Amino acid sequence: MPRGVVVEGPLVDAKFLDSRIAFVIMVTGSIAALIWAFTQGLGWVEISVFLGTFALSTVGIGFMHRYFVHRSFRCGPVMRTLCAMIATMAVQGSILKWVSNHRRHHLHADKPGDVHSPYYDGAGNQHVSFLKGMLHAQGGWVWDKQTTDPEVYAKDILADPIAMFFTRTRWYWVAASAVLIPGAIGYAFGGVHTMIGCVLFSGLLRSYLMTMATSLVNSVCHSDGRYGYRRYELNDGTTNELVTTFLTFGEGLHNNHHRFPRDAYLSHAWYEIDINGLIILGLGKLGLVHDIFLSPVSAAGAATSPNPIDVVAEDLDASSVR
Ligand SMILES: [Zn+2]
Ligand SMILES: [Zn+2]
Repeated sequence: MPRGVVVEGPLVDAKFLDSRIAFVIMVTGSIAALIWAFTQGLGWVEISVFLGTFALSTVGIGFMHRYFVHRSFRCGPVMRTLCAMIATMAVQGSILKWVSNHRRHHLHADKPGDVHSPYYDGAGNQHVSFLKGMLHAQGGWVWDKQTTDPEVYAKDILADPIAMFFTRTRWYWVAASAVLIPGAIGYAFGGVHTMIGCVLFSGLLRSYLMTMATSLVNSVCHSDGRYGYRRYELNDGTTNELVTTFLTFGEGLHNNHHRFPRDAYLSHAWYEIDINGLIILGLGKLGLVHDIFLSPVSAAGAATSPNPIDVVAEDLDASSVR
């Protein structure tokens, strides 16, 4: 096993506890949400809250990925707190764990040691079939008896009091995102009946579906061109796939991303719509974030803007994700 992979002890036990709690909450909540939707129906409040919180979580994972993992831009403590809050409210585990896993993923992409590859399992063995590999990448990996050592992969997060505050208090933010906020909005706009619908459908089911959408990046966008297309011939199975790109606000441009891991804006063609990247560029224009890293390809696109932001062009390869 490569350095930084832990196969037993308290870190692995903690990972399993997190996986079990998240699985039980999201799956039982989602089943209850479907029963509720078919027996009680859904109104505009439940659907609006579903769409609003799905969008906010998707932006949150965009910040988790491009800011906390890849440092595509810099920002002050207020913006960092905001990024950390909505990243944690996306209900995909703590910042510390997400960052550690994703950096390990880039370092070993689709090779033994990758956290969630369609080609190798957590022990570094090849999957027996493509389908089994896809299921592993889509979510089975959270049950692997191994985890990532943050002391190896995320020393910067361990030293960041804001990211660590949200790491320690992550379950409160999960409760706020999946239960309290949807419930409060539902109660305010429609009373107790709408509140229950909002918690089940717009909170718990949305958390599950949003996590599954993000996971398409690990499965579909690592399918070696079976789904989507490869703009760059890299030593991994990465693919750009446009349905995943739509659902994840740009994260599905994953072949572009593995080519230029630190790039803040992943669109390399007019039909590659990168909403998360546009949000980062917009925040740059407003002066809320700065030192936005752009690859030469993205910098060329961003320079056509009538009011170009201050761009630091860098061409980083997968080994320089930190
Ligand atoms: Zn990847
Ligand atoms: Zn990445």
